Amino acid sequence: MDKHTCCQKIYPNDKWGSFNPHTCGRSASYEYEGKWYCGTHDPNKAAVREEKLQAARQERAKAKQALIDDYMEKAWLSAALPDSHKPAFIAGWRECLKRSHMFR
Ligand SMILES: [Zn+2]
Repeated sequence: MDKHTCCQKIYPNDKWGSFNPHTCGRSASYEYEGKWYCGTHDPNKAAVREEKLQAARQERAKAKQALIDDYMEKAWLSAALPDSHKPAFIAGWRECLKRSHMFR
């Protein structure tokens, strides 16, 4: 059986690194679209890892946003405004938030 080596291009982390890639070359045990990769560069694994990172980031962002929304709502509720005006202000703030989320 042929010995495969990892074909992942490595871009060294220096000024000229992006112009000077070298191949990983470690013995490969994962095939992906006809190319071979080592355990570290297995594209399936890398994709899964990236997905998980992405999900975790989104989760954190959502939690943070919920805290801010909650805080702002309380701030509006305790603001020196006539109580009858507060719901309208909070609704306005929510609408504003929704729009700002779209541009993120
Ligand atoms: Zn590799």
